[in-house]
Amino acid sequence: MKSGEGGNTVLAQKVPLAQCPQAQSRKAVFLDRDGVISRKAPEGDYIKSAPEFEFLPLAGEALALLTAHGYLVIVVTNQRGIARGLMTETDLKAIHDRMTAELAAMGARLDAIYHCPHERGTCNCRKPLTGMFEQARADFPGLEFPSAFVIGDTLVDMEAGSRLGCTNILIGAPSDRDVLVAQATRAGIEVQFVAGSLYEAVTGFVLAGPEREVGD
Ligand SMILES: [Mg+2]
Ligand SMILES: [Zn+2]
Repeated sequence: MKSGEGGNTVLAQKVPLAQCPQAQSRKAVFLDRDGVISRKAPEGDYIKSAPEFEFLPLAGEALALLTAHGYLVIVVTNQRGIARGLMTETDLKAIHDRMTAELAAMGARLDAIYHCPHERGTCNCRKPLTGMFEQARADFPGLEFPSAFVIGDTLVDMEAGSRLGCTNILIGAPSDRDVLVAQATRAGIEVQFVAGSLYEAVTGFVLAGPEREVGD
């Protein structure tokens, strides 16, 4: 880990989980964690320990489908609770160890998990900045943003994906995402698809092919 002291460039944390020799030719799906794969903590709180981690319905099945179809599956997650002293790197590792073990039992593989542990405005990796995505591109030669998907439940996810030219899929209940899509439009952030769950995003859009575009 490189520290953010002095406002220097800071790299995201990486947990290598599986190296695939075919990485050069694989499409990537970038996933936010909380609110996409797992239940998010109440506003202002964080998932701080492994027992608090809870998968959303069919999230594991959705990730297993991505694995079965040969996608690079990469988690990019802001975890400012570490900078705030509410949890430690060790706590986060325990959460991610549990997540990866339970996913493995379902046939799903995460190729990498990147997290930003930093305070706002102190690094280049906290979404909506793109440091975690850039690190993934460095770690997986051949990963190309124009063919990659970004799946998230907030505007910061969509802003990062939009900056990189990825295809954005916004996850959320219809009432929430209508508000977010309107905000995104005003901010010039492109959201190509909206879906009610990760499973709907994967089956309806990622695996459905490039001809499915919103508004077509
Ligand atoms: Mg989220
Ligand atoms: Zn950061």
